[in-house]
Amino acid sequence: MNAITLNNITKTYNKGSVLAVDDVSFSVEKGEIFGLIGPDGAGKSTIFRLLTTLLLPDKGSASVGGYDIIKDFRTIRGIVGYMPGRFSLYQDLTVQENLNFFATVFNTTIEENYDLIKDIYIQIEPFKDRRVGKLSGGMKQKLALCCALIHKPEVLFLDEPTTGVDVVSRKEFWEMLQRLKLQGITILVSTSYMDEATRCDRIGLIIGGKILSINTPDDTIKAYPEKLYAVKSAKMYELLHDLRNFDGTISCYTFGANLHLSIKCSEQQVLDYLKEKGHDKVEFMQITPKVEDCFIRLLKEQDERNSNKDK
Ligand code: ADP
Repeated sequence: MNAITLNNITKTYNKGSVLAVDDVSFSVEKGEIFGLIGPDGAGKSTIFRLLTTLLLPDKGSASVGGYDIIKDFRTIRGIVGYMPGRFSLYQDLTVQENLNFFATVFNTTIEENYDLIKDIYIQIEPFKDRRVGKLSGGMKQKLALCCALIHKPEVLFLDEPTTGVDVVSRKEFWEMLQRLKLQGITILVSTSYMDEATRCDRIGLIIGGKILSINTPDDTIKAYPEKLYAVKSAKMYELLHDLRNFDGTISCYTFGANLHLSIKCSEQQVLDYLKEKGHDKVEFMQITPKVEDCFIRLLKEQDERNSNKDK
């Protein structure tokens, strides 16, 4: 059974003037870690708020744990855990007071579900009497996860849980999610860190309220349609300019210290062209695309489709 299903969900704000989620459909299997990957403003938080029954859709239907997000909103609130993008914790309460508060709201106690949070909680327990406002980002994140888990939810919604958290804590956090998955908890998680995509069972790439693709991370990368090259030379700015003006180029953009280039001609033709343009110390190497490359590629295809429609 699917733990989460969305059918043609649309949501607008400001009396329809802001289209936040545009006809989105996808489903998440029980026990799956599904990542919604996209930049700020893509519509991720809105999807979370719809599925946690905090907002009503304009169109479409959705269910969580088999329950309808409109009709069965009360039941859904009891079976989901939600870690919103901005911390939902009470800054003036201590670690333990926050956790107690969330346990009480859900009619349970820390002791009752301690097993589920134990691995995470022992890391913050030494600070249990510290006010949350004085914790580091990584600690707050662990506590927020404990609070979202304290009532043993079937489905966990984590909205950008690793934003602003250091690399080590991010890695630990994803390891914790893997352990929760093993306990049968379904996880919908959003992130704008593309490197985290590989940690999900499947990913949905989203922008402008539209899902561009849904696939496993590996198959998302395998679907990249051309060979991709990392290119460098002594003059990077001129290199970008020249490659963008080259007939054989499909796309070329800056990626870290390199340019990423895909072509519709031979490698030799690129090298001859760069020589002709006087480029020095050229490094040219075929690479495996990353999720970012797939994202950029899908966006380009979408733009091309839209501009063809406008013609
Ligand atoms: P993300 O979580 O991917 O950053 P959001 O769902 O927060 O995306 O936002 C999607 C779009 O909806 C953005 O254009 C954002 O500005 C707009 N938006 C979000 N919340 C509101 C709101 N309460 N009122 C008006 N517009 C909003």
